[in-house]
Amino acid sequence: MSKLKIIVVGSGIGGSAAALFLSRLPVQVTILESRPTRSASLAGAVLNFSPNGMAVLSGLGLADTIIQRDNGIEVPAISMYDSSGSFLGKVPHGSKERYGYPSLMTTRWDIHEVLLEDAEKRGIKVRYGAKVRALQESEDGVVVQWSENGEDKESKVDLVVGADGIWSVVRQSVYDHIKSPCPQPTYNGLVGIGGMLKVASISNLDKFINHEKPVVMIHGRNGFFGITLYDSKAENVGWWSTHEAPEKAEGDWQTPKEQTLSEVKRRHSNWAFPVSQIVTAAETDDFEPMVWPSYEVDNLKYWHTNRMILIGDAAHATPPHAGQGASQALEDAAYLAHLLRQLLSSTKLDVLTAMELRSVLSAFQEARQKRVNEIIAEANKRGDGKRELSAIGMFVKKWSMKIFFTFIMKESWLDGWFGYEVPGIHEWL
Ligand SMILES: Cc1cc2nc3c(=O)[nH]c(=O)nc-3n(C[C@H](O)[C@H](O)[C@H](O)COP(=O)(O)OP(=O)(O)OC[C@H]3O[C@@H](n4cnc5c(N)ncnc54)[C@H](O)[C@@H]3O)c2cc1C
Repeated sequence: MSKLKIIVVGSGIGGSAAALFLSRLPVQVTILESRPTRSASLAGAVLNFSPNGMAVLSGLGLADTIIQRDNGIEVPAISMYDSSGSFLGKVPHGSKERYGYPSLMTTRWDIHEVLLEDAEKRGIKVRYGAKVRALQESEDGVVVQWSENGEDKESKVDLVVGADGIWSVVRQSVYDHIKSPCPQPTYNGLVGIGGMLKVASISNLDKFINHEKPVVMIHGRNGFFGITLYDSKAENVGWWSTHEAPEKAEGDWQTPKEQTLSEVKRRHSNWAFPVSQIVTAAETDDFEPMVWPSYEVDNLKYWHTNRMILIGDAAHATPPHAGQGASQALEDAAYLAHLLRQLLSSTKLDVLTAMELRSVLSAFQEARQKRVNEIIAEANKRGDGKRELSAIGMFVKKWSMKIFFTFIMKESWLDGWFGYEVPGIHEWL
């Protein structure tokens, strides 16, 4: 059989994983990535990586690789407080004993690095500096056009996997092909501002946050503050404030450090230890605070045509409040490859028809969208809990949380998320 040619657009977590799974099939896979290099940086900040995401990495033989890196600390539970320092409860967050894999706090780039290092080892072609501009689909293929180092290039392939994130060009092409207006990402009114610090830069911080209590989340009337360790030696913390803010034009979110931190200071300077101390330390630290407005793409009607399919944030940009976006992108990658493997092993034809591919792509959307929508709904609920509150509203929230965490919540509350296994995940190694 002649090899199916596939282009994956985007080498984020979803695209790299998709290419790694697909490279185990009789297909020819290339990644086009607009970033100029694979360079690692902390700009992607810290990320909670759940046991269900770890289970996908295990399908690629990479779960131990991520666990053994310098960054990454196990988070079996999250400790909740209110802004006056009152303890609200401990929320189980995915233990190794229960799910087979731990929940990890690590950096986004550590996950990228693990995937892309393996892609390099396996000889997968990743073309950096390749920005996809347009895609045109016909009955027998998709012409992908991109610019690479100042040159215009194009290639015709059988299938395109759009893993190009929230501002996806492939999504636009899918909707253009279907002749339907393309839904745009919408701002949900919340912004995150965060940075990184040495634990030692604040006295007694190591007594507040440590291996026994690696992630702390603090709820107040005027927003939310998160603090997390993210390295195995517990020497570094990531912090972030989430609060309401009016929408701005794309280039206006990142403001000079002093201006960015002034809003964080205004909201959190009277919060109990160690919040105000972290904000003060951030002012003199070298680290430039990062700003993440929360955009989302929810319940898209079309994830695919006959030969183009969206995965990860391109299909369902997930608000950060559920800590599941990366894991859902990984689940997408593994499930799409699983369905293609079934199709390739059941056909004797040299060339897959558009209709055969379409049947796989629509089965993919049907199976994945329900799960992802449930997770997005919960993420939005949690995001709403970070909006501004009246004094009475905060009182009700504080006591509801205390009662829920103490008397109602069970360790099994997220079994459906964390215990999920993508069909066929054990058949790749
Ligand atoms: C502040 C914040 C906190 C988060 N916290 C968590 C968390 O704790 N846990 C969690 O699981 N998730 C979290 N997420 C969500 C998670 O980061 C995303 O869901 C996940 O990274 C999506 O991966 P992806 O591969 O689909 O897209 P992306 O990571 O966005 O990757 C897309 C890739 O495509 C490339 N690209 C884009 N356009 C083009 C083009 N035209 N041509 C070529 N390449 C292109 C980009 O350069 C990029 O490399 C968070 C997100 C944010 C914003």
